[in-house]
Amino acid sequence: MNEIFLLKLGEIVLKGGNRFQFENRLKTNVSRRMRPFGDFSVRIVQSTVYIEPENENCDVDGAWEACHYIFGVVSCCRCRPCEKELDAIFETAMEYLGDDLRAAKSFKVESKRSDKRFPLNSIQLSQEIGGRIAEAVPEIEVDVHHPQYTVYVEVRDRAAYVHGPADAGAGGLPTGVGGRAMVLLSGGIDSPVAGYMIAKRGVELECVHFFSYPYTSELAKDKVLELARLMTRYCGRMTVNIVGFTEIQEAIRDNCAEEFFTLIMRRFMMMISERIANDHGCGALVTGENLGQVASQTMQAMAVTASAVELPIFQPLIGMDKEEIVTIARKIGTMETSILPYEDCCTVFTPRHPKTKPTKAQVDKACEMLDFDGLIDRAIANTELIKVRWNG
Ligand code: ATP
Ligand code: MG
Repeated sequence: MNEIFLLKLGEIVLKGGNRFQFENRLKTNVSRRMRPFGDFSVRIVQSTVYIEPENENCDVDGAWEACHYIFGVVSCCRCRPCEKELDAIFETAMEYLGDDLRAAKSFKVESKRSDKRFPLNSIQLSQEIGGRIAEAVPEIEVDVHHPQYTVYVEVRDRAAYVHGPADAGAGGLPTGVGGRAMVLLSGGIDSPVAGYMIAKRGVELECVHFFSYPYTSELAKDKVLELARLMTRYCGRMTVNIVGFTEIQEAIRDNCAEEFFTLIMRRFMMMISERIANDHGCGALVTGENLGQVASQTMQAMAVTASAVELPIFQPLIGMDKEEIVTIARKIGTMETSILPYEDCCTVFTPRHPKTKPTKAQVDKACEMLDFDGLIDRAIANTELIKVRWNG
């Protein structure tokens, strides 16, 4: 018989009345993620997603790997289904998990019976299967407190399922249940992590990237597209809006006091991002800002930047240490790309002595001669939309 995957739902279980909406979204997301790997049936019963290959052509290993990146899932079990009957359960356990059992020093069986018509309760079932395994593999000991290996038996509606230890799922909430947000994606370490963290809360993402050709190279743009593609492993396909920023940066350089360059530039980024976000149905902006990390990330500087827009700005990394951010960047696989040495437009025309405690009035004054509307309109008209996805 085929293998099947059981994915256990996380916080959705707490969702009361909205639960069906959450489950339906998760089901759609899972089906979409499985599609590149062949025909799989996907259903949700009792807080569990059942994923079953429908024919021999399915890439079961590829699909299993993809299960680990779906938000809304707390754990992933790869199982072998069998008849709800003791002999079948025991034989399946030996056939499917025998090698793991023979390699372990101690084991236990943990059972769950959601089909209450099954004649043994969970404890009896564990004892029965555990006893038979101990007899069949004399070199392994039963240890119910600290077993090296655990065999799981789940007696559910249509079948019994036998599996080894579950893998951790991606956690969070299903992508899309929390609306859409626009991530300001630079080529750095922080913004991909910030995007991932907001996506994890069920938010669908879109990205905006500002680039200043020829001050920044095509390679810098490719790097950002690659970062976005890496993020799609978790957050699903995305659109990246690539906004030409050269004219704006030159206008700032030519007309504004140097100590405010970065702040004025960041205000433009916020305003343009907000315009695109509104046009594309995004309800918030997401940045990788982190308190105290650089001059533009003091409380005062962030207040000035944020005052340029009305949409909420989510800054999930605000209170984290760099090391914590790097740990997540490594986990989600963006770190290696983030540290490739290409210039970001933020490092073009960097002030020698940036103002760390600016006021809004000072910055307003420093950029009053700029034609914001015209510059923003032209930048938006110059935007290139690129779609990125994990598979192809
Ligand atoms: P990161 O590691 O994400 O680049 P950072 O620590 O370098 O962040 P800044 O360069 O001050 O910080 O940028 C702060 C935030 O502004 C970034 O996290 C990102 O969200 C946004 N940002 C910066 N540069 C760009 C850009 N070229 N395009 C889009 N967003 C940007
Ligand atoms: Mg940066």
